[in-house]
Amino acid sequence: MTANVELVDVTKQFGNGLVAVDKARLSVAAGEVVCLLGPSGCGKTTTLRMIAGLEHATSGDILIGGQRVNPLPARARNVAMTFQFYALYPSLTVEENLAYPLYAERLSKTDIAARVKRVSAVLDLDGVLHRLPYQLGEGEKQRVAVGRSIIREPTCFLFDEPLSRLDIQLRQSMRTQIIEVLSKLDKPAVIVTHDQIEALTMADRIAVMNFGKIEQVASPHSLFAQPANVFVAGFIGTPQMNLIKAVLGGVDAPAADGTVRAKFRLLGEEITAPVKAKVAELARDCAVTIGIRPRSFEFVGPEMANALHAKVDILEPMGAELLAHLVEGDTDMRCVVPHTTKLRVGQRIGLRCKPGQLHVFDANGILVE
Ligand code: ATP
Repeated sequence: MTANVELVDVTKQFGNGLVAVDKARLSVAAGEVVCLLGPSGCGKTTTLRMIAGLEHATSGDILIGGQRVNPLPARARNVAMTFQFYALYPSLTVEENLAYPLYAERLSKTDIAARVKRVSAVLDLDGVLHRLPYQLGEGEKQRVAVGRSIIREPTCFLFDEPLSRLDIQLRQSMRTQIIEVLSKLDKPAVIVTHDQIEALTMADRIAVMNFGKIEQVASPHSLFAQPANVFVAGFIGTPQMNLIKAVLGGVDAPAADGTVRAKFRLLGEEITAPVKAKVAELARDCAVTIGIRPRSFEFVGPEMANALHAKVDILEPMGAELLAHLVEGDTDMRCVVPHTTKLRVGQRIGLRCKPGQLHVFDANGILVE
């Protein structure tokens, strides 16, 4: 039986009527790391707590290793839920620190020793088992902390913002440690985070949540390259993708090489750009949203046709790059260019989207691809 975690239309409605999780569908394979990512209050923690058995699902099925676990209490599900990586007990050796979570499980001494041995081998701690925490390097301390959360040999790993209380440097190295360890364990792992860098660096796939709904589940790259809707488009990527209201003016017949070009009216201009063939299925003159990432613009002269125009409002240096805030009417846009680009506040500029980097969302905000 595969040790995976599966949510089938899982809903949680609290007593006050609030639907915190709405028909969530998610499948996490053994050895896979899935991050639940979304704004505060979108239902990430509630989803995790339902998998752990700390919260009952109002409807839907939760399966672990193919078994429906809805009726099982938390302790019978044998999941490892980590809220944060705790400091080590300073007076206990590495071996004792690792064994600590097992004392409550009434295992025999031989079983405890065997588990410590396995975890210590995975985490490369064999040489320091008899040291006290103060005799360890930072990396070793982190590995012991990770070891304590995996030693129970659970069916799956659930982490709720485990790194949120750590300082930024420790957080970065801890991410790497966790991923390295999880990759050796062949168990499903679900990590809740509101930090997109954390999700983008740790996850095999990310489930983006909003108002209790899972909006998209995809690899970090696909979320970035093909956001399923305007919410995901605006949520993933910094600075945020420009999402501009437009009207579809018409779509030309495909060229000999198959390229399809569409006309759009936006910001008082008309532009033509290559688009996905499916855009031709939209009605002429329908409302759409055009999505262009800040790094997908290129500048053209202010008088150039087939370009957008805007005024430079604020310039924000970002090291090697420059973030230009642009404004046209009541639309704000963001554009990232090399720091050497000559721009001044108040200047009027022309902008074009680099070929193939323009996203079209229909009137319901769904990506047309
Ligand atoms: P955060 O990142 O802020 O922790 P989250 O995405 O993890 O947010 P949840 O903690 O799952 O969100 O909460 C989802 C919604 O359910 C929120 O509106 C929250 O106020 C509500 N909620 C959570 N627990 C309860 C509860 N026990 N009773 C009533 N409402 C609750």
